[in-house]
Amino acid sequence: MSDPAAGVGRYLIQTWGCQMNSHDSEKLAGLLEERGYLPADSPAEADIILLNTCSIREKAAEKVFSHLGTLRPLKEARPSLVIGVCGCVAQQEGESIFRRAGLVDIVLGPRAIESLPAMLEQVLRERARALDLARREDSIAFEGRRVRRAPGPRAYLTVMEGCNKTCTYCIVPTTRGRETSKRAEAVLQETRDLAEAGYREVELLGQNVNAYRDGRTHLGDLLCMLQEVPDIRRLRFTTSHPAHLSLEIIHAIRECPTVCEHLHLPVQSGSDSVLERMRRGYNSSRYLDRVDKLRTHVPDIALSTDIIVGYPGETRAEFQETLDFLQKVKFDQVYSFIYSPRPGTTALDEQDGVPAAEKQARLAQIQSVQQEIQLGRNRSLLGSRLEVLVDGAARRGRGQLKGRSRSNRVVNFPGDFHRVGEFVQVFIESAGANSLEGRIAPAPGA
Ligand code: SAM
Ligand code: SF4
Repeated sequence: MSDPAAGVGRYLIQTWGCQMNSHDSEKLAGLLEERGYLPADSPAEADIILLNTCSIREKAAEKVFSHLGTLRPLKEARPSLVIGVCGCVAQQEGESIFRRAGLVDIVLGPRAIESLPAMLEQVLRERARALDLARREDSIAFEGRRVRRAPGPRAYLTVMEGCNKTCTYCIVPTTRGRETSKRAEAVLQETRDLAEAGYREVELLGQNVNAYRDGRTHLGDLLCMLQEVPDIRRLRFTTSHPAHLSLEIIHAIRECPTVCEHLHLPVQSGSDSVLERMRRGYNSSRYLDRVDKLRTHVPDIALSTDIIVGYPGETRAEFQETLDFLQKVKFDQVYSFIYSPRPGTTALDEQDGVPAAEKQARLAQIQSVQQEIQLGRNRSLLGSRLEVLVDGAARRGRGQLKGRSRSNRVVNFPGDFHRVGEFVQVFIESAGANSLEGRIAPAPGA
C-alpha cells in the first residue's frame, strides 16, 4: 500500500456483467494508470477499489451490495481506502448508494467514465464523496486515452453506446442512455493501434451494435473498412439486434475475410405473442428469415442467442413455442435467463402469474434441450481441422492450452505456453456440449 494522494497507489477493479462492462473496466484501469496507479492483486493491497456493476438482473445488483458488505472491515481498518461503485447499478441507484452503503466514496455512471480522475481528486483532497451520473454523448469518443486491456491476443473496442429501443423488460436504455456511434475514422485508427500493439482479434462492441451509424457509414461499411488492417486477422461484433440485421451486414460477413463466421443474435422468445408483449419489433418468422439468409450466404455460420423464460404471463404453450424454436434453428450456443423485474421498466406493470418453481423448471428444460442440440452441432466437427487463436492455458492443467475457433467455439489441446497469441490448426478429436478437444495439426501445405 502507498499514499494514494501522491498518485502512486494501487487499484483493484471488480467487474460484473457483459463485455461492455469488462471493456469499461479496462478504460477505468487506463485512467488510473495514467495517474500513476498500479494494479493490486487483492482488496487488502488496494488503495482504490472500484466495483463495476451490472443491473440487467436483480440478483446482479443485489450481489454488489452484499459484496460491499465484505469490504466494510477493510474500510474500517483503513479509512483512506477509496471505494467506488461504477456501471449500471451506479446509474440506477444513484445517490441512494451512499445511504445504503456508507463506505462508498464514488458513484460513477457508465457514460461518465472520464470523470473518474477529477472525482478521485475530490475524494482524496477534500475527503468528500463524489457522484457523476451524466449520460455524456461524447463518452463514446475516449480518443487518445489509455485503455488498460486484459492480456492476450483479443481486444474489445466500443463502437457505439446506448440503446434507443424500448424492450419492456430491459433497463439498459435507462442506465446507458441514447445511442451514440464512434466516428468510423476513429475506429479505424484504434484498430490500427491495436494491430501495432500485437492484438490479432478485435471485437466491436455496442448494446445494439448493428444500429451503428456514422453519417452514411453503417456497420457493414465499417467492417469492410477495417479490412485494411491486415494484422487484425479476426473481427467480431456484438450484440446484434434481429430487427437491424440488414443484408449489407450479412454480405459483409460473407465478403470480408477477417469477419468471423459467428453471430450472437438474441431472440428472447420463440413465441410471437411474447415477442409482441416484449416489444421486440420482430416476430419468429422474421427472425427465421434472417437465419435463412445468413445460412444461405454464410453456410458455416455459428449462431448464438439469448432467451428469457418466465416473462410475465408466459403460458405453457408460449414456452413450448420457444422449445420448438430451439429445435428449428439449432443454435450453437444459448444463454438463458429467468425474467427479472427491473425498476422503471414497463413489464413491471404486467401480471406475472408464472410461479417461481415453474420458471426454474422452464429454465432447466431450455438448458437440457439446448445441451443435446449443442452436443450434436459440436460432434459434427469431429475429424475436422479448425483454426484456433490460442488465448491462454486451459483450466484442466499443465501443458493444456485453450483458444477459440472462428465460430467462437472453445477448443482445448496440448501445447506449449509460448504458443499463446498464435493461430494454430487443431485437429478435432472429441466434442462435448460446451467445448471441443484436439491436437495441433501441421499447418496446411506444411
Ligand atoms: N441488446 C441486446 C438485444 O437486444 O438482444 C441485448 C443486450 S442485454 C444487455 C443482454 C441480455 O440480457 C438480453 O438479451 C436478455 O436476454 C437479458 N436480459 C435483459 N433484461 C433482462 C431481464 N429483465 N430479465 C432477464 N434477462 C434480461
Ligand atoms: Fe435492452 Fe437490447 Fe432491447 Fe436495447 S435492444 S432495450 S439493450 S434488450
